[in-house]
Amino acid sequence: MTHFTVVSPHPDDAALSLGSTLAWWHRRGARFTFLTCFSRTRWAPRAASNGDVDSVTALRRLEDEAFAARFGEAARHRALGFDDEPLRPAARGAGGAAQRKEDVEQPLLVALREAMARHAPEPGPWVLPAGQFHRDHLLAMVAGIAAAGTHPLVFYEDVPYVLGVSMESVRRHMTGVSRRAGRELHALRFGAFDRDAWLSGVHCYRSQFIEDELADFSARLVARSGERLWADAQALSVMGALFV
Ligand SMILES: [Zn+2]
Repeated sequence: MTHFTVVSPHPDDAALSLGSTLAWWHRRGARFTFLTCFSRTRWAPRAASNGDVDSVTALRRLEDEAFAARFGEAARHRALGFDDEPLRPAARGAGGAAQRKEDVEQPLLVALREAMARHAPEPGPWVLPAGQFHRDHLLAMVAGIAAAGTHPLVFYEDVPYVLGVSMESVRRHMTGVSRRAGRELHALRFGAFDRDAWLSGVHCYRSQFIEDELADFSARLVARSGERLWADAQALSVMGALFV
């Protein structure tokens, strides 16, 4: 049975970007470990506790656990506990001089990679954000590639951000991801877009969205023929077993 280590930069990213695909894999007996990287946050625009780090972090963890519970025994969820971008100190040195963002983030990347590797002991494909639009998504992608080591790699396009950009822009970005991963990547989809599965997944995240936003996202997903992934050759051969 195929096991997927699914890396979600924030709570809700796996549901937004992979809701239909995860349902398709689950129906074929796949198992999942969900790793939420930047789970410490004050962002909950639709909840009364918005702005309070401890209560929002706890609330969003419950939302993540409810999402994982949809897959029953086949899934487990781990919150890695890193601060999301608005909670991190700005990239400034003691004298106020701006440091290179990459230098400031190096220790964070190392810690993130180690946490991922510690919580994902099972072999099988790693499923990572493409990391095109948001700093936390980029960091999760870079750390994920390092943590995955020689395991097969799959990347998902970051919803909702990707809904507003051209396929050409995505393709250019994926060329860079491919270079960074040192693997050739192939675009693919799993089944037709399952709007019902997608909606019932994102409904676990009531602190984040109102119904109109979700209807808009899902309509735009339908318009672009659903969730698209990019897989290396090793992942394609492992996942081939799901098709039979
Ligand atoms: Zn996110």
